Amino acid sequence: MLSAGVLTAAYIAATILFILALGGLSNQETARRGNWYGIAGMAIAVLATIFGVVSQNYGILAGAMLIGAVIGLALARRVQMTQMPELVAILHSLVGLGAVLVGFATFLDPESHYEGVEKTIHDIEIYIGVLIGAITFSGSVIAFGKLSGRIGGKPMLLPARHWLNLGLLLAAIWFGREFVVQSAGGDGMIPLVVMTVIALLFGIHMVMAIGGADMPVVVSMLNSYSGWAASATGFMLSNDLLIVTGALVGSSGAILSYIMCRAMNRRFLAVIAGGFGTAGGAAAAGGGEQGEVVPIEAAETAALLADAKEVMIVPGYGMAVAQAQHTVYEITKALREKKVNVRFGIHPVAGRMPGHMNVLLAEAKVPYDIVFEMDEVNDDFPDVDVSIVIGANDIVNPSAQEVPDSPIAGMPVLEVWNGKTTIVLKRSMATGYAGVQNPLFFKENTRMLFGDAKDSLDAVLKAL
Ligand code: NDP
Repeated sequence: MLSAGVLTAAYIAATILFILALGGLSNQETARRGNWYGIAGMAIAVLATIFGVVSQNYGILAGAMLIGAVIGLALARRVQMTQMPELVAILHSLVGLGAVLVGFATFLDPESHYEGVEKTIHDIEIYIGVLIGAITFSGSVIAFGKLSGRIGGKPMLLPARHWLNLGLLLAAIWFGREFVVQSAGGDGMIPLVVMTVIALLFGIHMVMAIGGADMPVVVSMLNSYSGWAASATGFMLSNDLLIVTGALVGSSGAILSYIMCRAMNRRFLAVIAGGFGTAGGAAAAGGGEQGEVVPIEAAETAALLADAKEVMIVPGYGMAVAQAQHTVYEITKALREKKVNVRFGIHPVAGRMPGHMNVLLAEAKVPYDIVFEMDEVNDDFPDVDVSIVIGANDIVNPSAQEVPDSPIAGMPVLEVWNGKTTIVLKRSMATGYAGVQNPLFFKENTRMLFGDAKDSLDAVLKAL
């Protein structure tokens, strides 16, 4: 067993490494280092906990860790880049489930000797931990279903849903009081179980009511909840490191939610209230006939690119599906050799998770200094000769600005149509995640290069 002093020192070291990790992750150039800080911090935290906190049952612990490590490694090796958001969602659900199980285990712990006020506080910690954990768990499972397409993107809007939520909240508070009172008398299991069911229903209802277009906020919000669930677990177990780490995850997730809301021009409360965005991925239905689209071939695309001075590349979810990032970079290099100025314009919610495009471009080794955020380039489109939109749809949809009752109305978008020519790479006329038709495709200066983005870009590269 480590002494209390060594344990505390190890926990402080881990905390500092976690903070350095978050600092590192805020910038692409330092992200790799940030990851290493995080790995080192987690290794120290796990080792210090095993040798400083656990005092028995090492066999069970080793067995559980082995099973967890094997499953984790197998999943991480198998997962496609396009499945990353679902994986993140399901991992959040495990944090929530962990908080629920620890809550029940702590409540049932025969060796717990809390008395009086201390017992009340401990019971409240358990109650809140299980509450947040259960919401995180069921909400994340639904988010997983929505992100993986197993559940449709259409918001489920029950009648009087706000009253329903309010009722569930009031019931959770009432059962909380019951729990603390009954627990003082040596009981309390029934209110705890009832509240767990309520919280699970609340989590399901909350995420089911959120429309496809708001999912980015939900992903980061559940990330935040998982942090608070971990923090609550830390209180239950009197583990300082877990409290701090949970708070770091919880608050950074909350900041990310705020950034996502701002990127989509949405109020956080409006997102939680739900009902924004419709079913995703369907073929363009109703109102789809907006004129003719003009197709283009790869050779002609290559000629337009080679003749351009300013090229803007706008990647979206389809680039991730096609795994076209490496070819994109090969084309970028070829154009830069021809003295074409190539830049990337990245929308904050492009793809299916925060930073999705940046990760793909970094993987393909695209230099960071030509990758720009939406706000940095949006005014430059009038000077752009050719924009290539690679598997992006919602993030370049002018109806966000032009159609007030559109499900994505008000969301800032990359104004590619202000450039001279826009070439859109996609396989069909299907809609994007928010399920709305895109008038960009029918504009006079837009050309459609149909096909899988990787195949199309390979052909463009060959022609270049
Ligand atoms: P979209 O989902 O709007 O559009 C992607 C387009 O890519 C589709 O229209 C599809 O058209 C095309 N595509 C798919 N596969 C391929 C392929 N192999 N080759 C070529 N094209 C392909 O993506 P955007 O990036 O434009 O927008 C992101 C959307 O996802 C937003 O609505 C955002 O709110 C939402 N979202 C974002 C999250 C985040 O955190 N970033 C999280 C959850 C949701 P076709 O089928 O015709 O090929």
